[in-house]
Amino acid sequence: MDFKYVIVGAGLAGLTMAERIANVLDEKVLIIEKRNHIGGNVFDSYNEDGILIHNYGPHIFHTNSQSVYRYLSNFTEWNDFWHRVLTYVDGNLVPMPITVETINALYNLNLDCSQVEDFLKEQAVEIEEIKTSKDVALSKVGQDIYSKIFENYTKKQWGIDPAELDTSVISRIPIRLNRDTRYFADRYQGMPKNGYTKMCERMAANKNIKIMLNTDYKEVINDINYEKLIYTGPTDYYYDYKYGKLSYRSINFAFETYDKERFQEAPVVNYPNDYDYTRITEFKQLTWQEHRKTTICKEFPCAEGEPYYPFPTKECKAQFALYAEEMKKEDNVIFLGRLAEYKYYNMDAVVKRALDVFELMTKHA
Ligand code: FAD
Ligand code: UDP
Repeated sequence: MDFKYVIVGAGLAGLTMAERIANVLDEKVLIIEKRNHIGGNVFDSYNEDGILIHNYGPHIFHTNSQSVYRYLSNFTEWNDFWHRVLTYVDGNLVPMPITVETINALYNLNLDCSQVEDFLKEQAVEIEEIKTSKDVALSKVGQDIYSKIFENYTKKQWGIDPAELDTSVISRIPIRLNRDTRYFADRYQGMPKNGYTKMCERMAANKNIKIMLNTDYKEVINDINYEKLIYTGPTDYYYDYKYGKLSYRSINFAFETYDKERFQEAPVVNYPNDYDYTRITEFKQLTWQEHRKTTICKEFPCAEGEPYYPFPTKECKAQFALYAEEMKKEDNVIFLGRLAEYKYYNMDAVVKRALDVFELMTKHA
């Protein structure tokens, strides 16, 4: 088989590269995907009751990048969805991330924005050098809020103490001194009107793109003549675990369908201190689908299973750096995406990275 370009993985990274190669360069490209569907972790599908679910957990598109938003808008229209999350603390549901509303609800107060600023300054712990996710939280909100909202959620999600995770993890959650209770503050936010899978199908709809599903690339790669390989799978697997297995956090997604229209008060409810799961998503509140039943998903984080989250610790980054040295030596392989680059990328960051890599690749061609 002859293809100038071969892509491993049909997630957003692989599909963006394939779409650009097929449409802009008018070249043939083969995507090899080990799962039985395209879309990677953004894949969504209708369950047996006809409810649209996100098979790999809740996915909400949000970005400040106009170019990414415009690019994806070629393949989908959007519902104007503003994500909201509540978190269950001391028997009450309070808004996440932390805003003036959260502080008032947590402590039964009625403070205004500047009073909340003073309140948090009093709570905050002075930390000379902020090195970990625990430092980030303590320095912004102090011990009590850290214990109520961050400590146990993070232990459940990652299986280790926040003091062992680098600053990037808890820094994902803003602290707002206003009443904006949206989960994300990005300029562009939305949910693909007909779902992520439909959006992905449109990205791949080009006669230059061939897709081989249910196939691990190692089964076939030696039978294909190609010039460039774009690899979006796990890097340790590519190198046959030469420097050991990289740690990824996995999740068991438990879906339940109820014979009622509404299950909970927000699209996502977090459970930092109760139960073994971290959060419950109610899909109809994300997709706006109308249905007399409703499906939810509980997330049980675990060590073994599909690799979903690269592990943001010092040790894991050091281990990945060994692989990164090998990656630099490759002439005809591009490593791209959340797994291959071992980075906690959101969807928009993956698409941005793929668009940038495509530009670079074509400049050097
Ligand atoms: P992936 O989607 O993982 O695609 C990689 C593909 O490669 C997979 O399909 C895999 O099967 C395939 N593959 C791997 N190995 C091989 C092999 N040996 N041979 C062939 N194929 C192989 N981002 C947001 O912006 N908003 C959110 O709300 C959000 N929520 C998330 C919730 C969860 C639970 C998770 C896990 C992620 C979330 N993300 C979210 C992140 C988002 O899923 C990723 O940014 C994006 O899907 C990464 O795309 P990718 O192509 O790099 O990787
Ligand atoms: N987090 C937390 N409490 C929460 C929500 C998040 O401690 O109620 C921490 C936790 O460590 C989590 C990180 O913040 O892994 C990032 O949260 P986000 O919602 O961005 O996680 P994702 O959607 O990527 O799983």
